Amino acid sequence: MEILNEMKIILPSHSVNEGAARAAVSSFLIQADPTVEELSDIRTAVSEAVTNAIVHGYRGTMGNIEITVRLLENREIYIKIKDRGCGIADVKQAMEPLFTTAPEEERSGLGFSVMESFTDKLRVTSKGGKGTTVTMRKRLGGNGKC
Ligand code: ATP
Ligand code: MG
Repeated sequence: MEILNEMKIILPSHSVNEGAARAAVSSFLIQADPTVEELSDIRTAVSEAVTNAIVHGYRGTMGNIEITVRLLENREIYIKIKDRGCGIADVKQAMEPLFTTAPEEERSGLGFSVMESFTDKLRVTSKGGKGTTVTMRKRLGGNGKC
């Protein structure tokens, strides 16, 4: 599918960069004229993925989070959030609702469920010790310019 426009950013895993990532992604996507609800869904999904990279992927350490956002044909949005942190041993189990490895931090294990319900397609690939890549796709409604 043709890429109409693209943004790539790299942010270190400071917790404050969760908000920076969310703001950067939504300002880039404004050009596609999403509805308030669509934008809010995307912001929430990005927030969950970036928070996971910060609190789980780079737990006790620091590293870079690479974010790619693409505007594709037919008002399709592609978002990739990649860390090179500790990775996930069992992705299937991690994606189950309410599964968390950090219950003592009052995490509820719902991040992946939120990403899944706020986007059209969610894909998670991970290698222990090598990091995690989350890709999300969402088709915007309406008939904006792209
Ligand atoms: P919540 O998102 O509700 O605060 P949570 O982060 O534990 O809780 P999910 O976001 O669904 O829940 O993630 C489930 C589990 O998958 C996490 O507890 C963690 O073990 C693992 N995980 C998720 N993302 C990553 C990542 N980028 N690197 C390493 N582990 C991850
Ligand atoms: Mg989470």
